[in-house]
Amino acid sequence: MKFNTKAIHGGQEHDKAYGAVMPPIYQTSTYAQSTPGGHKGYEYSRTHNPTRHALESAFASIENGNFGLAFGSGLAAIDAVIKLLKPGDEVISTNDLYGGSFRLFTKIFQDFGIKFHFVGMESISNIEACVNTNTKLIWVETPTNPMMNIIDIVAVSKVAKKHNITLAVDNTFATPYLQLPLDLGADIVMHSATKYLGGHSDVVMGALVVKDKNLADKLYFIQNASGAVCGPQDSFLVLRGIKTLHVRMQRHCENGKAVAEYLVKHPKIEKVYWPGFENHPNHDIAKTQMKDFGGMISFTTKGNNYKEAIKTIENLKVFTLAESLGGVESLAGHPASMTHASIPKEEREKTGVVDSLIRLSVGIEAIEDLIADLEQALK
Ligand SMILES: *Cc1c(COP(=O)(O)O)cnc(C)c1O
Repeated sequence: MKFNTKAIHGGQEHDKAYGAVMPPIYQTSTYAQSTPGGHKGYEYSRTHNPTRHALESAFASIENGNFGLAFGSGLAAIDAVIKLLKPGDEVISTNDLYGGSFRLFTKIFQDFGIKFHFVGMESISNIEACVNTNTKLIWVETPTNPMMNIIDIVAVSKVAKKHNITLAVDNTFATPYLQLPLDLGADIVMHSATKYLGGHSDVVMGALVVKDKNLADKLYFIQNASGAVCGPQDSFLVLRGIKTLHVRMQRHCENGKAVAEYLVKHPKIEKVYWPGFENHPNHDIAKTQMKDFGGMISFTTKGNNYKEAIKTIENLKVFTLAESLGGVESLAGHPASMTHASIPKEEREKTGVVDSLIRLSVGIEAIEDLIADLEQALK
């Protein structure tokens, strides 16, 4: 099945009771049993829920995996992956990554005796330099947030396989429409389904997808034992969102390209970070591992002035100043004071998150209105 068909039908069966085309919202915590243990596959909704199950099957289908798991947030999904580890284990992670992932790693799991190395993964030798016998997980985010660096998943997976290390990829920015990490050698794909998969800024949710049954069983155990699951109503909403993922992504990519090309020519702009530019340092890798370049763009204004960046964002009218990304509406954010405020200033400036950096999640509105909005805000 092609991706566009999978987005709509992947992993889905019509409702067995009445043939409902969309799975019903099974808003229930428990299920009647005829005799102790005599149930129809569902006992308790932390463990299983039919609406969540339909969504988890859709996750698996669109990511070319065999098993999908849904969580109450993206961070809950990451939390479950790190719980595969034990004290003394080491993780090699992207250095330019979602601020909340950095906070979870350094402020929670480091205290449990897990060691994290943050490295620039554009150069594979930086990863190899950190590998030792305790290395159990490589955590990749590509494109990175907010600097839009591209990491070569196939190259990282070769290092991971050689040393028998699990490779996880946060695929939130690219989505499976653009990039399929499991096909490129990753063991685990993670999503903040809050973003493009949900697509309408109305749900917070996380997802994991794997191919391997043994790994899936361990993660299902953690999902049930730790209990960070999502509810049936939210499962329904994200399942509905996925059905239009391909058409939304197509427009996000078109609009993203137009905005990037407009900004790069603007006299007030210092630099535009978007992997679609031929002079982007990893454009060639982006071209091979992604189908298109997405709707996420970051830029800096000339003079690197904090106040001016804030003013520009405040002037925007069609773009909404807000955290998050990946919804149908365009959003603008200021990473240094918002999503990346939990990363110390020296750390974030090392990776390029300077005071004038603005991040755009380009939505699917009319492109003329988006460009006009940027034009007036930059004035
Ligand atoms: C938002 C985000 C997360 C965290 O997901 P939540 O759903 O907010 O918990 C993780 N990674 C990336 C790349 C994100 O954008």
